[in-house]
Parts: sequence; structure tokens; C-alpha cells
Amino acid sequence: MSQNNFPESDMTLKNIVWCSHLEKRITRESSQGHRGLVVWLTGLSGSGKSTIAANIDNNLSKTGIQTIVLDGDNLRHGLCSDLGFTIADRNENVRRAGEVARLFLEQGFVVVVALVSPIREARDKVKQSFAESDFVEVHCNCEFSICRERDPKGFYAKAEKGKISEFTGVSSPYEAPLQADLILYTSDETVTESVGRLMQLIVQKVKFEK
Ligand code: ADP
Repeated sequence: MSQNNFPESDMTLKNIVWCSHLEKRITRESSQGHRGLVVWLTGLSGSGKSTIAANIDNNLSKTGIQTIVLDGDNLRHGLCSDLGFTIADRNENVRRAGEVARLFLEQGFVVVVALVSPIREARDKVKQSFAESDFVEVHCNCEFSICRERDPKGFYAKAEKGKISEFTGVSSPYEAPLQADLILYTSDETVTESVGRLMQLIVQKVKFEK
């Protein structure tokens, strides 16, 4: 594998060379005073990914931490607008989000990815392509019945009427992480509690050891 997890032979054949920004990342991280990190939020629709991502973004920005949110819904408007909701397309969506996250990580950002990312193997593949210290998987663990009741975007109602096909939890599978770095119990915790627990983990991971 090459540095960005593309098979070396493929890239060599295509005369594509990975341009390493490692030096730049190290310099940038030391001048900004914190490390970069990918925070990958996975969970059912309505489990709180977007809410938590927006709050984390807001809190981190206030403490001077350089951050960006990659929200699944927004990615699907542009970069991933050619993809549908088959398992293969969802996995490609996950792969692309991972590659965009990598580009921002190399610039020293804390990248918060909020994506259903339902298939364990696809998530694990992304996770394994990062150094262990650069990536945390966070499971927004919310009971299906609560997600359905909250239905913040009205998707469950539509899916149950057959107006949306291949909808996660209704007509398409969700495989929960087996070893998430953090589980947020978003059925029971308040937004403030979930955000607070995740903030603690992020701050601990991005601060420089003294
Ligand atoms: P998703 O992005 O996973 O589809 P959203 O963030 O759009 O989910 O919606 C989650 C809904 O659940 C919001 O209305 C939010 O206020 C509510 N909610 C209740 N408790 C929590 C919690 N602990 N964390 C996140 N969201 C929560």
C-alpha cells in the first residue's frame, strides 16, 4: 500500500505519485498548538450525528481548534451526488468521505465525519487506512424506536410508506461497530452530555504531550 492506501502497483502504473504533506502537517500542528484527528460518527439516521458534529465544531472553534465537519447529507449534494443507496454505493460514499478526511487531516484539522456508514467492513477499511492515533470511531448508539420517533428529517415516515427505498434500519442493514472508541448513548443522554463526553476524548487526543 502507498501512503494514502491506494495499491502501490496501480498508482505506479498510472504514474501518480502521492505528494506527502507530513512536514507541513507537523509544522502546522505545532504552530496551531494541537494535533489533527479524524472523528468518525456512525449511527442510524436520527441518532444524533449531525447535531453532535455541529456542536463539536462550534465548541472546538471557540477553543481555537481548527475543525471541519463532513456531513453525509452535504457530501451527497456534490462530491457523492452520483451515488445511490445500494451497499456498493454506500461503501463508495464511505471511501470518498475517508479520502476527503485524509486531505484535511494532513492540514492539521480535526475532521468530524457525520455519516450513517452502515457497513462495518467499509468503516473498518477506512479506519485501518489511518494511523491509530489519527482516527476515532464514535458510535451514536440510539435505539431504533427512538430514531423513528424523532425522525428529524421525516425519512422514517417516508421509508415506511415505501417512498424511500433501501433506507437504513427499515429496508437496508446497519452493522454497529464492535469496537468503537467511544459509544454515545443518544437515546438516554442529553445532547450536552454526549457532546461533553466526545469533547473530552477529542481534547485528550489532540493536545500535545508535555
Ligand atoms: P442524524 O444526523 O444522526 O440523522 P440528527 O442530528 O439530524 O441525527 O437528529 C438527532 C435528533 O435527536 C435531534 O433532534 C437532536 O436534538 C435529538 N437528540 C436528543 N438527544 C440527543 C443526543 N444525546 N445526541 C444527539 N442528538 C440528540
